[in-house]
Amino acid sequence: MKVPALVNPTSELSNNELRRYGRHIVIPQFGAEAQSRLKTAKVLCIGAGGLGSPALIYLAAAGVGTLGVVDFDVVDESNLQRQIIFGQSDIGRSKVEVAQERLLSINPNITVNIYGIKIDVNNVLSIMSEYDIVIDATDNFATRYLINDAAVLLNKPCVWGSVNRFDGQAAIFWSAYGPCYRCIHPKAPDPTTVQNCAEAGVLGNLCALVASMQVNEVVKAITGIGELAVGKLMIYDALSSENSVIAIRKNPACVICGENPKQTGLLENYEEFCGIVSAPEITASELQDKVNSKEDFLLIDVREADEFEQSRIPGSVLIPQGFFLDLSALSQLPKDKEIILHCRSGARSATCLGIIQSKGFTNSRHLRGGILEWEKL
Ligand SMILES: [Zn+2]
Repeated sequence: MKVPALVNPTSELSNNELRRYGRHIVIPQFGAEAQSRLKTAKVLCIGAGGLGSPALIYLAAAGVGTLGVVDFDVVDESNLQRQIIFGQSDIGRSKVEVAQERLLSINPNITVNIYGIKIDVNNVLSIMSEYDIVIDATDNFATRYLINDAAVLLNKPCVWGSVNRFDGQAAIFWSAYGPCYRCIHPKAPDPTTVQNCAEAGVLGNLCALVASMQVNEVVKAITGIGELAVGKLMIYDALSSENSVIAIRKNPACVICGENPKQTGLLENYEEFCGIVSAPEITASELQDKVNSKEDFLLIDVREADEFEQSRIPGSVLIPQGFFLDLSALSQLPKDKEIILHCRSGARSATCLGIIQSKGFTNSRHLRGGILEWEKL
């Protein structure tokens, strides 16, 4: 579909920029005008993981003037197989801070805004409204529906991508011109049938391929060159090296972008919409009471060995997150007593808790705010 350019060209390019982006500018359909549109553009990438890492690197290198990066997580060793914006020395650091440094080292001419927070119903509209287009590089259904709904309400294009083992998919959802994510998936899948990337696994290089398909739609939307893949679901099978494209249509009965939308704002709770029960928590002071009263429970630190060496909660045992992700930790867990997991801030322990709860270890909780909260006691 031919769609007018999302962004107007503003300033002239400097001599430095004409040199830097010469391989773009020399392409006849592209030229200095499209490059100037990229310079003016503001792109928000939600998630700095498997898809976000390569997408951000290409957007920065391409000269997109303003990038926003949202991710609340820290770099974990198990990320490095595919999240190529990070390196070994970044383990334990905030993903958005590392991403900002790396992107500015690739291209110091751009601005990188970082949001080290979890995107939610309270912040998504204000953050997204600052940008022209959004990339959904997240890996869970609750956030995917949240981003879709916010994009429809703000009339922004949303470039979605998904990877699972050897299968990759990408699409651009823009309710002004075609379907939204809800048109295709009106109902969230049953959470007990959904495997996340940690459980199912993913081929690392497939992330770069899908992210590159996403960036390709972003560049065309900004510059107006070529045809946008609105109304198309692009599918790549890495095992057979075959591409397929499926036509997807706007659903006139869609609750948010249909002819008579019933949903005119964000939902109150997207986890609930997706049938997800929130991870049971224990506070730092409740944990201290349990320790003081010598209750019988197992406290597991799911951080990495070097973090455990630096500081630990007395009585805790170390089983790093990776052993939960590959399920090898399960054989070490007791069936007859409560299990409490903790990490640095609560993100990794929530992931591990979800895994063990789904495997039948339901007498389990995780420490809200992680060891950072414990150290404030
Ligand atoms: Zn829709």
